Amino acid sequence: MLSDAIACIGFSWIASPACTELETVMMDWLAKALGLPDHFLFSSGGRGGGVIQGTASEASLMVFLGARNDAIAKLQAAEPQGEPCELLARLVAYTSEEAHSSVERAAKLAFVRIRSLKTDEKHSLRGDALKQAIAEDRAKGLVPILCIATLGTTSSCAFDNVRELGQICNREGLWCHVDAAYAGSALLCPELRNFADGIELADSFNFNPHKWMLVTFDCSALFLRDASKIVEIFSADPIYLKHEFTGQPDYRHWQIPLGRRFRSLKIWFVMRCFGISGLQAYIRKHVSLAKEFEALILANGRFEVVEEVTLGLVCFRLKGANEATEALYRTLREDQRIHLVASKFHSSGVYFLRFVVCSSQCESKDIRFAHSVIMEAANKLAK
Ligand code: PLP
Repeated sequence: MLSDAIACIGFSWIASPACTELETVMMDWLAKALGLPDHFLFSSGGRGGGVIQGTASEASLMVFLGARNDAIAKLQAAEPQGEPCELLARLVAYTSEEAHSSVERAAKLAFVRIRSLKTDEKHSLRGDALKQAIAEDRAKGLVPILCIATLGTTSSCAFDNVRELGQICNREGLWCHVDAAYAGSALLCPELRNFADGIELADSFNFNPHKWMLVTFDCSALFLRDASKIVEIFSADPIYLKHEFTGQPDYRHWQIPLGRRFRSLKIWFVMRCFGISGLQAYIRKHVSLAKEFEALILANGRFEVVEEVTLGLVCFRLKGANEATEALYRTLREDQRIHLVASKFHSSGVYFLRFVVCSSQCESKDIRFAHSVIMEAANKLAK
């Protein structure tokens, strides 16, 4: 409410120094709270830093455009006669078959070819798959530029192996981006950080505080190791936007729109109201409610859980052919007392239901209620 009432349109530092400067401080607070590597912090004194985008989709697009233009500039330096549009046709990016559809869309918008690579039995993209794809593509004369890893896939909250992928990217000269739209908030809890092993190898990292950190929509935090790769391609300096001050970032070069709202106030209020310990308690409560649901589901031998429950998502199904779970889903939708979304693994075609704890008001009684509705529906189907 305050952010809207101020009606600030902080497109450059001079348009609203407070809007820019609070954002740089909040981005550093967030990076420290999540245990992100120093190169993502402004206060580290390097070229890195964070910026608030509207959504994870925009963050992926920014990364695509940055990686694309960086690659074209390097190719042109080596082949000065090369036309950018011809060089563009040789670029290739990689992601996992379980990545969010926004990654594929970002590739389409950036006009860069993308390959969705097969995952292992835990639906995790591993280094070997990336290594093989890079070798195949180089042999065809293509130029690998970017790998987008996911921590917490949308379907089942699986985790790509960022250490393996990051090592290959660093060695082969690819940009390594990590999309942790949902799961990133869990890094507030040190005991949950294992899934982000190798994050220090990433060139950029994104998560949505509006998904699981009590910040209202929209607020997507993008951290860059070397912001100049984005700033340079987005810079356009008409006279009406010029100013002399260079001591702070001009966020207009870090995003697609020019105008921007005072979204860092939302992070400031949430951090000050709940504190790190309050936010950790919130995440831990959701994880424990998800475990409670998992135990209830597994107590019935007709059901199985198809992905390890790490955070707030439980992926479950009726054992056997997909048709039984599809029928259960239809029954639950007709019943209308609870809302679930279904999904399917790309590799196996296994269909499952996704139960996710995401309401700030959620309590154990809600978990037991949802479970009883699911059992009622399953019993009705069995009859
Ligand atoms: N990436 C992942 C892993 C997601 O789960 C989602 C949304 O569910 C997105 C990206 C897209 O998020 P946004 O709505 O912020 O673009």
